[in-house]
Amino acid sequence: MRNCSPVTILTYHSIADVPPSGSPYRGLFVSPKNFQRQMKWLSRLGYIGLSLREIHPYILGQKRGKVVGITFDDGFCNVHENALSVLRDLGFSSTCFFVSGQIGGFNKWDEPKGIPYTRCMSDEKIREWANAGNEIGAHTVDHVHLTEVGLSEAFDQISNSRKRLEEISNQRVTSFSYPYGDVSPDIRNIVERSGFKLAVTLRKAQASSRHDPLLLPRRNIRHSDGWIAACRKTIFG
Ligand SMILES: [Zn+2]
Repeated sequence: MRNCSPVTILTYHSIADVPPSGSPYRGLFVSPKNFQRQMKWLSRLGYIGLSLREIHPYILGQKRGKVVGITFDDGFCNVHENALSVLRDLGFSSTCFFVSGQIGGFNKWDEPKGIPYTRCMSDEKIREWANAGNEIGAHTVDHVHLTEVGLSEAFDQISNSRKRLEEISNQRVTSFSYPYGDVSPDIRNIVERSGFKLAVTLRKAQASSRHDPLLLPRRNIRHSDGWIAACRKTIFG
């Protein structure tokens, strides 16, 4: 169907208390209270939060309605602790992109940058996440810069993350998020060859049927974005 209205896909990382000012990558945190307020206001405005797989028909114009994509990169425990019940209470779903080599581990890839130690969900927590109606997405094995490793390493990072997450969740994993938003035509093609149907970048825009489903843009929510900013990004992109 043509002339569909564009859809916003929101990006979150950690839903946890925001580190003190001056901390590196503070923008990756949204406080639990702020997150809850954002979701409640979206709901009050008539929006339904959906996972990537569920929002895709809206992006294509096959379905119509007030919807917003909710995505979390990295698979942190704080998302399970602070977002799961908020989403469930509002009848929302979402996609979380997991780093398959750090299941039950931590954000090892952030260590050199001094980003605070943050635990990643265990197998059990991932299953709880999926059983609550949320989608399991992949975010490579080790959170690598995909354009900086060789193509065969990139293939292993992408396809092995999908296999491992499918074993754990017992659901098909067809959505992918490029770590750091780092993608090239070769990497995009590897993601397709690895069995993914949808993939998201960090390019700032609303998603529409004009976009390659393997290069969908998103809007990032930072620590300084309150509910008004979240609603504005959802409505206007
Ligand atoms: Zn990431």
